[in-house]
Amino acid sequence: MAYRHSSWGRSLCCLVAAWMVVSLNRVLAQAPADGEVREKFVPIQVTEVAPGLYFQYHHQESNNAWLVTDEGVLVVDSRQHPKRAEELLAAIRKTTDKPVKYVINTHAHGDHYFGNAVFKREGATFIAHRDTLRMMQVHHGAEMKRRVGYFKQTGFDPADVRLVPPDITFDDKLTLHFGGRVVELLYVGPGQNPGDTLVYFPKEKVLFSGGPFSKNSWPNPMFTPSMSNWVVMLRKMAAMDVDRYLGGHGDIGAKQDVLNEAQMLADFDAGMRAAVAKGMSPQEILKSAPFEKYRDVRNYYRMNLFINSYHHFLTTGKPQVALP
Ligand SMILES: [Zn+2]
Repeated sequence: MAYRHSSWGRSLCCLVAAWMVVSLNRVLAQAPADGEVREKFVPIQVTEVAPGLYFQYHHQESNNAWLVTDEGVLVVDSRQHPKRAEELLAAIRKTTDKPVKYVINTHAHGDHYFGNAVFKREGATFIAHRDTLRMMQVHHGAEMKRRVGYFKQTGFDPADVRLVPPDITFDDKLTLHFGGRVVELLYVGPGQNPGDTLVYFPKEKVLFSGGPFSKNSWPNPMFTPSMSNWVVMLRKMAAMDVDRYLGGHGDIGAKQDVLNEAQMLADFDAGMRAAVAKGMSPQEILKSAPFEKYRDVRNYYRMNLFINSYHHFLTTGKPQVALP
């Protein structure tokens, strides 16, 4: 099923206008660092990717999945604000009236965990990797600041966001046997983030990857401690027994989409290393209109921020946002 989101309308006009400006300016646009969204409007879509397993694709913001079982519901990620989490809960309620038992936070970015409080109220148990918990503890305040533009744009009150940390953490692997279904949480090291959790539904041959994979979408490299590990991780994911890849952003993907992202990141890494070796500043790299080949990939308008943060990594040896 697919439906148009009812509450988005107010910001639609400014989004479309902003998108047109971005289209004209392309890479030379300087995206603000405050999380304002300048993406084209695509209606929210909910797809049942396997029996009882649903994927919600929200192009402008972030994606979710939920699994409906006889014992209750497992939800992957909780959106960018409690108001968005209420909308997610309403979408879930169109598919089941069972209680939400588990919420997995795939990584510690606000657009994937700021809605946690709504599911806490519903009585859910929260699960995440131990490094995701640490990232939440250390960087929650910075995450809030990074999204000020989003709060302004949507009119959502930042004061409504409450940090709800995981109740259960895991190190390498956690297998849930839940309502006759099996869900495996896997950690193969950091990709986009310390703590990146892969949520694997082995019988359904579906993999949800919140941070590392997003179909046809530039990921933010501000957090990665190892771009090469990230590329290896994507190639490992592509080799898994999986038919459908659900990203934290972007639409439903296939193996080739995962491999495409691995190539894009490898090209970004190599291009940035070559530029830094020549002594180029972030502004000089940006002016050289780099990575043109990937200009139609979602989030390209944020290239100024990506170049800045990866330049920082290559010149200091540390990601802009790191665990102490
Ligand atoms: Zn995200």
